[in-house]
Amino acid sequence: MLKPMRPEILFPLFSPVSTLKGVGPRVAPLVERVAGSLVRDVLFTVPQSVIRRSRATADTAVDGQVQTFFVSIDAHQPPSRLGQPWKIRTWDDTGFITLTWFKGHGPHLERQHPVGSRRAVSGKVERFGVEIQVAHPEYLLPEERADEIPPFEPVYAATAGLPSRTFRRFALEALSRAAELPEWLDPAWQAREGLPSWRAAFVTAHNPVGEADVSPLSPHRRRLAYDELLAHQTALAQRKAARRAQPAPVIPASDLADRAEKALPFRLTGAQIRSLSEVRGDLASGERMSRLLQGDVGSGKTVVAMLAVADAAGAGLQSAIMAPTEILARQHYETMAEPLAKLGLSVILLTGRDKGAGRAAKLAGLADGTHAVAIGTHALFQDDVVFQALGLSVIDEQHRFGVNERRRLQDKGAGDGKGVHLLAMSATPIPRTLELTVFGDLDVSRIDEKPPGRTPVATRAVPMPRLPEIVGRLKAAAEAGAQAFWICPLVSESEKIDLRAAEDRAADLRQIIGPSVGLVHGQMPVAEKDAVMQAFVEGKVSVLVATTVVEVGVNVPNASIMVIEQAERFGLAQLHQLRGRVGRGARESSCVLLYDLPLSDTAQQRLDILRKSDDGFEIAEKDLQLRGGGDPLGLKQSGFPAYRLADPVVHRDLIAVAADDARLILARDPDLTSPRGQAVRVLQELFDWKPVSTLHDAG
Ligand code: ADP
Ligand code: MG
Repeated sequence: MLKPMRPEILFPLFSPVSTLKGVGPRVAPLVERVAGSLVRDVLFTVPQSVIRRSRATADTAVDGQVQTFFVSIDAHQPPSRLGQPWKIRTWDDTGFITLTWFKGHGPHLERQHPVGSRRAVSGKVERFGVEIQVAHPEYLLPEERADEIPPFEPVYAATAGLPSRTFRRFALEALSRAAELPEWLDPAWQAREGLPSWRAAFVTAHNPVGEADVSPLSPHRRRLAYDELLAHQTALAQRKAARRAQPAPVIPASDLADRAEKALPFRLTGAQIRSLSEVRGDLASGERMSRLLQGDVGSGKTVVAMLAVADAAGAGLQSAIMAPTEILARQHYETMAEPLAKLGLSVILLTGRDKGAGRAAKLAGLADGTHAVAIGTHALFQDDVVFQALGLSVIDEQHRFGVNERRRLQDKGAGDGKGVHLLAMSATPIPRTLELTVFGDLDVSRIDEKPPGRTPVATRAVPMPRLPEIVGRLKAAAEAGAQAFWICPLVSESEKIDLRAAEDRAADLRQIIGPSVGLVHGQMPVAEKDAVMQAFVEGKVSVLVATTVVEVGVNVPNASIMVIEQAERFGLAQLHQLRGRVGRGARESSCVLLYDLPLSDTAQQRLDILRKSDDGFEIAEKDLQLRGGGDPLGLKQSGFPAYRLADPVVHRDLIAVAADDARLILARDPDLTSPRGQAVRVLQELFDWKPVSTLHDAG
């Protein structure tokens, strides 16, 4: 597809920041660091807070506040040693105020502000007992120019060498380059919500006259947030439409799958039945499926995938099931090979371990259609892996794969111009409210019900000083044949330091519990890591100390204890997933959340949520409510979009509205040619929303 040219009206905003007055070669990199490389990015960097400067006198000065004083210069105190500040002692009728400068200031201060002169000074007050100090005053002006000191000022993200006030100048200039754009909002909705025009919204954002104007909930900020969400949602909706236009083989529900279902030692839960029928609807549609199956660890996603695989086989098509690690691939193989073999289907496991003649034989069987199903790791999408007729690919823990990796598996279709159906699985609980932003271009099925008969994992929060007691119990449990995970968090900037902490912990536990304590961490070679994990699966390791590499889907039914150190530092979703490693077997299971003292109120509440609930979606939703904003649930790394004006938490009520709006706009005007459609194109360009899919590139 030819990329449409950027509309001319946006040219000024898409020039480099160096075109702004005052942004020379020295300042440009600083502006780029704070905002980005374009004038648009400076415009998009809106102030997050404001300061009020109150008038004060020495006796009414308040520590920590930004205040303005009228003073007389009393004495200059040059530094007596290198590294000491230059000080000016000043006084008003009520006492002394000392002004200090640490760097780059000297005798010129004495020339500019001679003893006896009257000055207006403004800056942040620091009070040490009776002593009052203002370090690096923001304003120091002759008294008669005092009205140049604004009583009220927006605060921009600043960086060393680029103070907020300077950035504001650039922001205002960027604003002056922004033309009013054609309106993309629905006029009736805009009026009802009381939202200003696009340009007016930025004018208010950069010229706040009160705290309310820097609130993300103010009408102008909501407008800008909505714009960004709409840009994203329309891009996602276009992606979805493009994908739907791709033909894929028609796979009807099959007799094979019915037989497989009847042979299961249990009955499907309602949520599994619903998810399966959604998958089947896609498979039979003739359009390419892109469906995400979301469900807690242990909710039974694998069975649903297996039945879809049986349907594909019933239609004479092969399936590939890809897992991020060898252990997970092997576990899927162990789960599925036998039931599928009973249907007369040949299943192979293909991993990096397969070499030489063995591998060649497996590949030959895939190419000639002997094998109906290939389960494996990254090894599955190597170039020489050729399928006779691949119809369905299943990707477990989809976020662990890159877009390119996923696409390479998609490209292994039969070559008849038909796409490969895609079923992705994820155990990361995304709150419903955020689902649209994370997976807006996918169809989502949720397994929100656990198979019957599970006993919840008894969860306790325990302060770190009680560590010896926990270790004592762990030793007793290990001697009685139990197995445990012990998670050390990755918290410091340096992986080395974290690794040391994990090694030290493993050594400590080995002293007390004995040689059956194992260690896995992210920096181990894959083979070594797999070997330790395998020893744990086989019961040769009783306590597995791990940094958070513990594979999300690994099934060790005998493991019944999960200890997590510094639990307060994990996201709740992650804690919940870790806890999901245990409670899969017959044993009563427990999870110990060790925390450092003191524990903040919020941290306490978060750990409480986890103690009380065992439903991933509920936990995610509550965690979201508890957080004011920012990176909800630490999801950035799982493909969460980096918004600049919208906060997916604060503005979550707008997400669904934007998604509906996007659907409607595209339903009426699929090619965006109407006046409103063209305005939407400008909007998409403005936000640079390359409509990238979370799963694969349909463009
Ligand atoms: P997930 O992949 O969602 O983490 P699995 O598919 O591995 O979960 O299922 C976890 C366990 O639950 C497996 O041992 C599976 O056999 C079992 N299971 C799945 N569905 C049901 C069900 N409806 N009733 C009872 N057990 C089930
Ligand atoms: Mg699984």
